[in-house]
Formats: sequence, C-alpha cells, structure tokens
Amino acid sequence: MKIKIGLFKKDFSWQTVLEQIGCDWDYFDFKNINSENYSLLIINDKLNGDEVSAVKYYLENGGAVINNLSEDYFDSNISFSSQLVRNIFPNEYKTIDVLDFPTKINFANNSLFHFANQKGLICYFPLNLSEIFLNTSTKRKSFYFKKERLSSEIVNETSKGAITFLIKSIIEQLHHKRNLPFAHKWFYPLNSKSIFTFRIDSDKSDKSTILSLYNLLNKNKISANWFLDVSSHQNWFSIFKDFQNQSFGYHCYKHKIANNYNDLLKDFENAKKYFSQNDFEINSASAIYGKWNLDFAKLYEEKNIKYSSEFSFTYDTLPFFPFTENKIFSTLQIPIHPICIGSLRQSGYNQNEMTEYFINHIDKCLKLNLPIMLYHHPLDKNHEVLQNIFDYIKEKAIPNISYDDYFNFWMARMNSKIEFDFNQQNNILKIKSDSDSFFSVSSDENNFHLVNDKDEFNFSNFNFTKKDIYSFPEDYNRIRDFDLRHLIQSFLFYIQTR
Ligand SMILES: [Zn+2]
Repeated sequence: MKIKIGLFKKDFSWQTVLEQIGCDWDYFDFKNINSENYSLLIINDKLNGDEVSAVKYYLENGGAVINNLSEDYFDSNISFSSQLVRNIFPNEYKTIDVLDFPTKINFANNSLFHFANQKGLICYFPLNLSEIFLNTSTKRKSFYFKKERLSSEIVNETSKGAITFLIKSIIEQLHHKRNLPFAHKWFYPLNSKSIFTFRIDSDKSDKSTILSLYNLLNKNKISANWFLDVSSHQNWFSIFKDFQNQSFGYHCYKHKIANNYNDLLKDFENAKKYFSQNDFEINSASAIYGKWNLDFAKLYEEKNIKYSSEFSFTYDTLPFFPFTENKIFSTLQIPIHPICIGSLRQSGYNQNEMTEYFINHIDKCLKLNLPIMLYHHPLDKNHEVLQNIFDYIKEKAIPNISYDDYFNFWMARMNSKIEFDFNQQNNILKIKSDSDSFFSVSSDENNFHLVNDKDEFNFSNFNFTKKDIYSFPEDYNRIRDFDLRHLIQSFLFYIQTR
C-alpha cells in the first residue's frame, strides 16, 4: 500500500502544510480512493451522501481520515464548541511551541483534535487553517529566557510554524496507530539535524563597522546574507564586491516605511541603481522592521525576487510561498528567529545572558529539528556574543549555508517526486524518488531515521534513532503574560517609524 495523503478540496493552506512536511500527497478523486492508494484522506469540505458513503467504505477497509470540518459525518458522537482560546502551550499537545490563535477556534469534544477509532481511524481537527495562513496581522510577543524580563518583537499574530508541526504530528499518529510507517522528505540537505543561516540587516551602519563584522565572519568562515540599507552605504558601496562567500539583497534605499506601493517601488529602484553599478543582481530581500505586506509581495513578484524573510509574516518554521485566497506568490518566504542581539540589548541583557539565550535557542532547534536562522545589525556589535554563537555552531557540527543554498535545496525538494510503498506482510517499505535527498522514516513517535536509500527498507529489523526530547522550562507559559513594557515599546516604535 502507498504511504500517501489525499486532500479533498483545493486549499492553499493545506497544500502549504503538506509541502512543508514533504509527504507524498495529491488531490483525490472519489473514484480512486481505497486503502491501497491512500494511507490518509483529509476532508476539508462538505461531502454529499455518495461521498460520505465512499469515505465510510474506505474507513471500513482500514483507512484513516482527518475531518477538518465542524461537522460529524461518521457517527462518532463528536460535539463541537467554538471557544476563544488565545494560546495553547506546548505541554498540552506536545507542540514545538506555543500555538497563538487570533480568532475563535472549534474544539472537537473539547480538544484541539480528537481521535475516534471506529471502523477506521478518524481525527477530528476543526481548526481553520486558512485563517492562520492568510493572517498578516502583527502583535508584540515575548520570547522565553530564564530572566524575569523577556525580550520581545513585533511578529505575526499567529504561530504558523507550530501549526505545521502539530499537523505533522497528527499525520504521524494516524499512521503509527495503525502500525504503518510514516515517511517524508527531510527538511535539510543530507542528514543534518538542522542548518545554520546568518542574516545581516545593515541598518545605518558605517564603513568601519561593516568591515569589522565582515572580518569576524571571514575569520569564522561564516557565509551570511546581507540585506543592505543602501543610502547609508552609497558612497562606498563597492566595498561589498570584495567580500568573500557573502550574498547581498535589498533591505531599502531609505530606512523608512513606505506609505504605498509607489513609494516602495521608488525606494527599490533607487537601491537598485547602486546594485547595478556594482554588477550585483537583486534576487533576495528583507523588508524593514520585518514588515511584510501585500505591497512587498507585489514588488517582490514584479522584480523576480527569489526569496525574502519577514517575521511579521511568519517566524521559526520551514520555508513556504505566501498566498492570498486565490493566488500563490512566487517569492519563497524563508522564516527567521525574530530575536537578535539588539532586542536582547534593549531588554537589558548582558553578554553572558545574550550568549545563553542563543545557545538555548540553538539547542531547542536541534532537538525539534527546526532551522537555526539568526540575524544581526552591524551597529549592535557585541562580537564576543557572535563568536560564542559561531563556536557553538561549529562544536555541534551544524552546517552553515547561505539562503541561496537553502533556497535551491528547498526548490529541488519541492519539485522532487516521491513514492512510498509499504508491504504489510513483510514490513518492507520501498522508497522511490528522483532526487538524492534524505527521507525521514518512523514507526512510532519516539523514533525516526534519516535514509537516502532508494531500495527496500525493512521495518522489522531496523535500528531506529531515538528522537530527542525537548523539555520546555516549567515557567515557559509566562511568555504570553501581559507585559506593560510592550505598550511602552510599541509607543516608542510608533514614534521612531512615523
Ligand atoms: Zn532594518
């Protein structure tokens, strides 16, 4: 049988999540659903009577379903209740981080999801994914550290990343509960547990500060992506040409929020002159203050920007293409961790505390297999802290790759074809793929293994790798406590950016 997911109605948010996870999936046709062709169906739109019968027949023959509606088609006695729960913390559903919801959510039997085992396995998951993925609103959020004072940043109101990983866990459980393996394309090149990318927003930096940061990177052989505040460097822009192993993209010409699309376009064209004079092409961008909106999406698309990175849209997750209700944009969003040395400095952290903050973040990412994506402003200096970060990355043997490399990897990953065939008689999984990349295979929630073996893979006699467990600190929930400082910070931000 195939380890493959069938999605019912065309839906960019589900499509995005399945692509991020990297499973074999397609839109199913009721004529072709049987438990040999699909190991899981996602029902994300209302069914008619014949369709309900077809899904019931599929379930009776050993299938599994995610019912993503607030309606019970399968007589499981589920009651739905709409509740306003702004946050769900990681200990409750073993998520990778806090789940933040902007609107009411539908609970199935008072749970975010509920498994019903009755003539096939059904998971009731009535969360509206589009509401989360289309959300571009922002909110100041705190990020955990052991200190009383937490550092914060204005980021997206939702937690798109935690949702993706929650769905991955549900999909895995729906396979494992039936003694089936689950397999998906791995998130990183080769069999790395994670990757390290380093981004620099060059905000208002002078020449000597830029050169001193470059020297530190060069000494540590760190490949970084520089997003340039061009007007601050226009008199000596050509120095960037001599930087080895670094990439450059558009941050702004003037570091000022554009009022409308035309102002933004003008700013881009002004910046572009300096790029062109120095034979640089602009194929990447990061909006100032991480503030993504539809004007940026439009500009990026018109200017053939390959990827951009903005935490007001999403953060701490895997890449994906942003979309509206009827269109997917062509600029890949490469999410980043929103807290930088500057944020920690503003919160009064000393260098030891800064180092500890980033070491904790790196450890968390390694255990949860999240990408380690940090950024820095040259004027925030603190090179000792950067040196500690680079040393730790080396100690943990985490590959440092450029955004370009990760973009190329991600596109190849998205475009590669895969097929997972599982034989229940002899417990053998066959992986067919047209790429050299690795796959994660698992047979229960505690173990997994990364393989690039395109041949047979026997589950009965295989030594799996034990999954790392990340324990959230006991007082983790205080990241969503009310903090009066947020109001003051928001006021200062408003004055600063007016
Ligand atoms: Zn900036």
